[in-house]
Amino acid sequence: MTVQPNSIEARDKAYHLHSYTNARALERDGALVIDRGEGVYVYDVNGKKYIEAMAGLWSVGVGFGEQRLVEAAATQMAKLPYYHTFTARAHSPSVDLAEKLIAMAPVPMSKAYFTNSGSEANDTAVKMVWYRSNALGKPEKKKIISRIKGYHGVTVASASLTGLPNNHRSFDLPLPGILHTSCPHYRVFKTDGETEAAFVERCAKELEDLILKEGPETVAAFIGEPVMGAGGVIVPPAGYWEAIQKVLKKYDVLLIADEVICGFGRTGEMFGTTTYGLQPDIMTLSKQISSSYQPISALLINDNVYAPLADESNKIGTFGHGVTAAGHPVAAAVALENIAIIEERDLVGNVRALAPKFQSRLKALEGHPLAIEARGVGLIGALELKPRDGFAAGQLGPKLFAIMTEKGLISRAIGDSLALCPPMIITEQQVDDIFDLFEASLDEFQRQLNA
Ligand code: PMP
Repeated sequence: MTVQPNSIEARDKAYHLHSYTNARALERDGALVIDRGEGVYVYDVNGKKYIEAMAGLWSVGVGFGEQRLVEAAATQMAKLPYYHTFTARAHSPSVDLAEKLIAMAPVPMSKAYFTNSGSEANDTAVKMVWYRSNALGKPEKKKIISRIKGYHGVTVASASLTGLPNNHRSFDLPLPGILHTSCPHYRVFKTDGETEAAFVERCAKELEDLILKEGPETVAAFIGEPVMGAGGVIVPPAGYWEAIQKVLKKYDVLLIADEVICGFGRTGEMFGTTTYGLQPDIMTLSKQISSSYQPISALLINDNVYAPLADESNKIGTFGHGVTAAGHPVAAAVALENIAIIEERDLVGNVRALAPKFQSRLKALEGHPLAIEARGVGLIGALELKPRDGFAAGQLGPKLFAIMTEKGLISRAIGDSLALCPPMIITEQQVDDIFDLFEASLDEFQRQLNA
């Protein structure tokens, strides 16, 4: 990229520290600056068109440029641009959205609680679990178990829950009392000759061993994404969630379903909880709740969590938690309209209808000489590249990612896995376009490697 002195790329380099970016590399190479979006496409400041096969960050379910969301935001902004929900205040978008989410919940839920990001929702879940244990007179029951490669965010507690080295290294995390159990990635973690069923049993046994080692009276909750997203799109093997939940029940451990990616249709059901038969006590929602047109997240909690929390707040005098923009009226109005679009256009039906095509074309790439494994469900998937002499783990993915971007396909490199999670409005032709570009990128990469 040639950068003019006062271009937006140059000013970005000069003034802007980016998330999840090597800051020194950015000073040298600059950023790709996106200017506008329409449907499943985005355009950079030079007018180049990309098919956005990641829906931003797994999140723009209804696609870019949806005017109904623009109008919902403008209407609410004009009427009441801001109000809060502290100290017994409410406004209709927050009430309407809470009612809607409770009605949509795939398992009985009592209350919705609003935050602004997935990280904040998961931090709040941790604090609710701690508060609940104190309310129940079990102050020792505070430990929370997450999974290696799970992704739950970056704030202090949620980064601790996240089971990825880059979120811990140099940040002095995880916090004490947040523990990690095995990752259900069969191909990577199976032992020699271990069947999938035996692997599932071992995952459950390792969870049980951890609970017993720590003392069941000290373990309060387990958090998991129905399908792991940012850890590399890891789809649990058959029977995994059933086996895990059996252990949680046995030791009175709450289940938190992190639906931040799976929620609102991604797996072919409205929630991943339904796809995998989860019975969570807490669900955390974000991303596709508003198609990321506005920052908003929510927790749904059942009575098992709500009742002690309500009692404790009554005893102390308040539930001492909350952020200024929680349940923001503009964000809530946009989320409501977004959910209406998902329902009216049956986008979950579209995910189900296109999933066989999407998954079969992804699976076909597994046969490419550079690939080792394709994984996915619904309209989410990843292709992992085979380790190769001369390349450290995690070096191949970004190289293929660069070729894809050059060809106008936006994916996401997670180590050596390339993830796909397109807007749920995608058409069959556009699914083919994604995989045609993916295949062409793999072929190009192979030519470069052979040269
Ligand atoms: N949970 C999951 C499953 C996620 O994928 C993410 C974000 N990728 C988060 C939590 C954190 O959300 P946020 O980036 O909005 O804090």
